[in-house]
Amino acid sequence: MVDGTNPIMIEAEGLTKLYRNFAAIDNVSFKIPKGQIVAFLGPNGAGKTTTMRILTGFLPATSGKARLAGFDVTTQRLQAAARVGYLPENGPLYLDMTPRRLLRFFGEARGMESDRIAARIEAVVKLCAIAEVFDKPIRKLSRGFRQRVGMAHALLHEPDILIMDEPTSGLDPNQIRDVRGAIRELGRDRTILLSTHILQEVEAVADRVLFIHAGKIVFDGTVREFDSRGPNKDEVFHLLTGARS
Ligand code: ATP
Repeated sequence: MVDGTNPIMIEAEGLTKLYRNFAAIDNVSFKIPKGQIVAFLGPNGAGKTTTMRILTGFLPATSGKARLAGFDVTTQRLQAAARVGYLPENGPLYLDMTPRRLLRFFGEARGMESDRIAARIEAVVKLCAIAEVFDKPIRKLSRGFRQRVGMAHALLHEPDILIMDEPTSGLDPNQIRDVRGAIRELGRDRTILLSTHILQEVEAVADRVLFIHAGKIVFDGTVREFDSRGPNKDEVFHLLTGARS
């Protein structure tokens, strides 16, 4: 819930990303305090992935600032990266690695001690239920297991901020239920920004909605405020995107 006393953990300040003269995002600003779970909504191509990649330091903004736990993602990159776990849209990209190798590799890349890596791998393998695929190449895994491996990777270094790009896309209903449960559980003591196309997801996991359309934030409020804009979530989505139903 929005609470003025909680520190700001995720901050976008006037973020703009230009591709030639096309603005993928245009002057995007928001602040997410500690402990909130925020659903990032918007139609295809609205700018969600672009915003998340800038926040996680994977893509430079053309202008504006992004901060995680108060650290600038560009000028204080290491401190910012240490605080965040990122689940990219299609899970881990290192398809030839096994989860065992991937998790150790990233633990080492983050400068974690060997004993801590072993302990954290054991913890995330259990939490994300990937023991049965631990030694299989990621390219051979189903989408559901790839997402879980991505989640294990994002949680390895115990970040207190999680940024997840469509964590439930392409999953079956059981997997969706499991992932939503995991997000709610993780959100008890973390700050989470997750993008989704699925409007029921908002109700299931989030405190707040940020809605982006054509690169601009067009709604920022509680789930209840979002719902109060129309007869149902689908209609609100149409209204905010200017689409006719
Ligand atoms: P989706 O829900 O489909 O994943 P999104 O909200 O995540 O969409 P982005 O992937 O951030 O949207 O894309 C925002 C806009 O920027 C789109 O119009 C996209 O085509 C454009 N875009 C993204 N990357 C590039 C690039 N490298 N070069 C040119 N345009 C790009």
